[in-house]
Amino acid sequence: MDSKTVEQLAALMSSRICRVCVDRNPDGSCDSRAEGTCSLMSKLPLAAEAVLKVQSDRMEPYIESIRETVCGGCNLRYDDGTCDSRDTDRCMLNSYLPLVVEAIEEFFGRQRVPA
Ligand code: SF4
Ligand code: SF4
Repeated sequence: MDSKTVEQLAALMSSRICRVCVDRNPDGSCDSRAEGTCSLMSKLPLAAEAVLKVQSDRMEPYIESIRETVCGGCNLRYDDGTCDSRDTDRCMLNSYLPLVVEAIEEFFGRQRVPA
């Protein structure tokens, strides 16, 4: 998988999310980003990799692949696969999934049409 493509898709996801994220400062800057502590940013390259493994004309397989890959390595998940953060919308990835979906659609619109 081309690392540049992963970076491009992760950057597109990040730009869509960060511009509406409630944790930004009023001037648009972000302390978590500057300090490298945003819990979402480290997950986006994994999410992008998960998306690029899939070819589908439906969105669900992309979302499933993201959840399998990112949640699989997430230390907030219990051994049985459940996750309190997901159910209570405290997981940033989960909260911003609609924007991740928009980024995927925009990306494939530019790069290729899913088979
Ligand atoms: S907290 Fe994370 S998602 Fe929100 S603006 Fe900062 S870097 Fe972006
Ligand atoms: S939904 Fe839960 S397991 Fe998945 S990334 Fe979010 S916090 Fe981690």
